[in-house]
Amino acid sequence: MLAKPNDFSAVMDIAPRPDTVFVSGRGSWITDQDGKRYLDFVQGWAVNCLGHCAPAVTGALILQASRLINCSPAFFNAPMGQLASLLAHHSGLDRVFLANTGAEANEGAIKLARKWGQKYRGGASVIVTMEQGFHGRTLACMSASGKPHWANLFEPKVPGFHKVPLNDLAAVDRAITDATVAVMLEPIQGEAGVYPASDEFLRGLRDLTRARGLLLIFDEVQTGVGRTGKMFAAQHADVLPDIMTLGKGLGGGVPIAAMLARGVVSCFDHGDQGGTFNGNPLMAAVGCAVMEEVSKPGFLNEVVRLGQLLGDELSGLAVRHNLGEVRGRGLLLALELPRRNGSEIVERARAAGLLLNAPRPDSLRFMPALNVSKDEIWEMIRILDHLL
Ligand SMILES: *Cc1c(COP(=O)(O)O)cnc(C)c1O
Repeated sequence: MLAKPNDFSAVMDIAPRPDTVFVSGRGSWITDQDGKRYLDFVQGWAVNCLGHCAPAVTGALILQASRLINCSPAFFNAPMGQLASLLAHHSGLDRVFLANTGAEANEGAIKLARKWGQKYRGGASVIVTMEQGFHGRTLACMSASGKPHWANLFEPKVPGFHKVPLNDLAAVDRAITDATVAVMLEPIQGEAGVYPASDEFLRGLRDLTRARGLLLIFDEVQTGVGRTGKMFAAQHADVLPDIMTLGKGLGGGVPIAAMLARGVVSCFDHGDQGGTFNGNPLMAAVGCAVMEEVSKPGFLNEVVRLGQLLGDELSGLAVRHNLGEVRGRGLLLALELPRRNGSEIVERARAAGLLLNAPRPDSLRFMPALNVSKDEIWEMIRILDHLL
């Protein structure tokens, strides 16, 4: 037999992975092949917004898989239209391009902004982005990102991005030239360690970009679809961007993403944009199921309450163990670790049956299922308290 069980030698080595092999999951719990259960506060990096194998997700997959899986992006299919309508309705934006990953959605946003610049701004193409920002791993998205570690990786970079510090409106203002077409940022910088853009900054950016005739692009790949207690994080600041991208939670675990735009900005000509799997009915049907769950009456209020509880409990831990601040909104929170021992805590937590994420050595990030229970939050705090 060619394939031996538990042989991962042919898997390309791109990350330090522990020996653990996961086989099943349900809600906030995931089980490895030895039968050990873990409380999961990573959820595939904020992807399984309804928990592991949520009935809404598996139900939509099974039903749609038995009807139609793919009919090519050159034709309409029913879930494609339904998901686009749901996203337009909840966002206040007009047109939706469905993609497969957050990076792909952001590529689409960058391309749309450049196209718009070519049509309406005399060829302006430069996008102002934020230091420490994260927009994905394609070449253009890496170039748009402000991750210090990436500064000299995979040279040459895609030109056309100018970085400024987060929450510094004057710096954005100074960075704008005739060549500028847009400002792009995450409402909360997730990978950087959960650093929120202030509501005033987002509102200031909306006024500034409107006054200067520029597009405002929000990357809500991590913050969208209920993660922060509103359907989209920018709604806390009551700001509507010109372009918004979604990913992660939109599929409840399956790969689907989206790029949304105002009607007047949606200026692609036929043939400019596309992709083999884009808008396929199987993933779009799951996106619809997730959107329906998250927009049920009371769902987001519960996310706010659970986020409050998690935040309060983390603040309690911080006091008891001399840790730093708690940052974030809703169920996207980080706890600062002054001793910069994030990866050590993550490893010890895993041994103790708890999955956590440290995007940086100095912070732990918490992104449980949006329907995590209070008991599960208390259980996580109990394990972490013991570890610390
Ligand atoms: C995860 C993430 C991306 C990239 O999404 P992929 O699906 O990994 O391509 C982009 N932007 C933000 C803010 C993210 O958190």
